[in-house]
Amino acid sequence: MEHKNTQPKHAIVIGSGFGGLAAAIRLQSAGIKTTILEKRDMAGGRAYVYRDKGFTFDAGPTVITAPECLEELFALSGRNIKDYVDLMPVTPFYRLFWEDGFKFDYTSDMDATLEQIRKVSPDDARGYQAFLKYSKEVFAEGYTKLAHKPFLNWWSMIRVAPQLVKLGAYRSIYSTVSKFIKDEHLRQAFSFHSLLVGGNPFTTSSIYTLIHYLERNWGVFFPRGGTGALVQGLVKLFTDLGGEIRYQSEIDQITSDGGKVTGVRLKSGETVAADLVVSNADVVHTYRDMLKHEPAVKAKTKKLEKMNQSMSLVVIYFGTKKRYPELAHHNVIFGPRYKGLLDQIFGRRAKGASKVELPDDFSLYLHAPTVSDPSLAPEGCEAFYVLSPVAHLGHLDMDWSVEGPKYADKILTYLEDRYLPGLKENLVTQRVFTPENFKTDLNSHLGAAFSLEPVLTQSAFFRTHNRDENLKGLYVVGAGTHPGAGVPGVVNSAKATASLVLEDVGLA
Ligand SMILES: Cc1cc2nc3c(=O)[nH]c(=O)nc-3n(C[C@H](O)[C@H](O)[C@H](O)COP(=O)(O)OP(=O)(O)OC[C@H]3O[C@@H](n4cnc5c(N)ncnc54)[C@H](O)[C@@H]3O)c2cc1C
Repeated sequence: MEHKNTQPKHAIVIGSGFGGLAAAIRLQSAGIKTTILEKRDMAGGRAYVYRDKGFTFDAGPTVITAPECLEELFALSGRNIKDYVDLMPVTPFYRLFWEDGFKFDYTSDMDATLEQIRKVSPDDARGYQAFLKYSKEVFAEGYTKLAHKPFLNWWSMIRVAPQLVKLGAYRSIYSTVSKFIKDEHLRQAFSFHSLLVGGNPFTTSSIYTLIHYLERNWGVFFPRGGTGALVQGLVKLFTDLGGEIRYQSEIDQITSDGGKVTGVRLKSGETVAADLVVSNADVVHTYRDMLKHEPAVKAKTKKLEKMNQSMSLVVIYFGTKKRYPELAHHNVIFGPRYKGLLDQIFGRRAKGASKVELPDDFSLYLHAPTVSDPSLAPEGCEAFYVLSPVAHLGHLDMDWSVEGPKYADKILTYLEDRYLPGLKENLVTQRVFTPENFKTDLNSHLGAAFSLEPVLTQSAFFRTHNRDENLKGLYVVGAGTHPGAGVPGVVNSAKATASLVLEDVGLA
């Protein structure tokens, strides 16, 4: 397809998630007049911010890794990220808790890590070092070389296939970790990471073990003022560059003529013309809803609708008038089951059940950002969110407006009994976000929290291509595209997408 054209361009980016913001910054930095149109009243997408009674709650991403991909967005126009946002190192990276009382502080300190491993399973210390070496190799191939490269054709896939086979990409994360490590707690500790990007450790390719090395290599960060401050830093960079961002501007339709996009029509009826449209919205929503009038993409829409979605989440944002100093900033609380629970979260029926059910047990991520930044809560108080992975709406057929508050209460009771004594009497504020909210607030297909499930058969060339092959001028960016969900993932997807746009308009 011939794309080259050097006329001045106007680009519209639909949505202001990290992927949309990063793509818009790249286009605007290259001299393309860019407008972001966002459905909600604030930027960030999943990284929205709630404020209540003096508490600040980041809605989504809190484990900020791979700062280099963020720094690069500022460096494109000779700016420095430090002038926009302060990324503070977090240590330990995570504090992990199990019901039998075992605790593990996951840090970048090799000696401290090995000492903790030796205490529980002496043989696993050597295994861990071998695992780290493996994860470094995967990182070099999977992240450094491929994360920001678009996969548009078979050849791009075939070229990397030998490397993927050599690294055992056909194996799951859990089975790979188990080759190196014998203790079950440690197997869980070094395999849960794929959940942060929507993948089941038992089915997600071992390529995702690269997250382990990525964290150790660069560290884990938290923006002073919360992830929302990082979003605001990106918005400021974009507007400093001359870009325009409009809120409460939900797109109804991507308009086209003669096989080429012409702009968008908003729900309000307003039309905005553009030569280029980059959608950061959910990929199924983009094709099924915004392009429903377009016969050229019918087949693609059908295919996308059939692909597996990641799991969903129930998230409870809450503030207490009490501090809990025994917690770290990032806490992972493992429940009594690992595989069995994950099977249910990813849509398998429990033994003897006629349908997928909401399990009675859970594994939780507990965010306690006041550990790093007390300004996020009034003095003497603590801001939290707790997140419980649950099956998406396609698997779990229930009325979340009824079940959500009940489920939230069950989680808070569990936390009070085991980790946060006196929680309920010290609660100052509380808000629940369910799979239904992912669907309605964020337009996510089946309420999935991380878009398409990151299994090998839905990765790279098999994921939604960053440049549409049917409509000239249409691109997608974000969690449903290569390389996938997570802040580094979507920021790299923006690099892949922007590289194609710039190539097509003759600016590469
Ligand atoms: C609770 C939670 C915790 C997470 N924790 C982490 C973490 O710690 N670290 C990490 O790296 N990742 C984390 N993730 C994953 C990460 O947040 C996401 O993968 C990433 O932020 C998704 O970015 P995106 O660019 O795909 O866009 P999204 O954030 O999905 O944003 C898409 C935007 O498009 C807008 N939109 C949708 N439809 C329309 C329309 N029709 N018109 C206009 N606008 C529209 C939406 O309002 C939204 O603002 C977490 C995710 C969740 C949900």
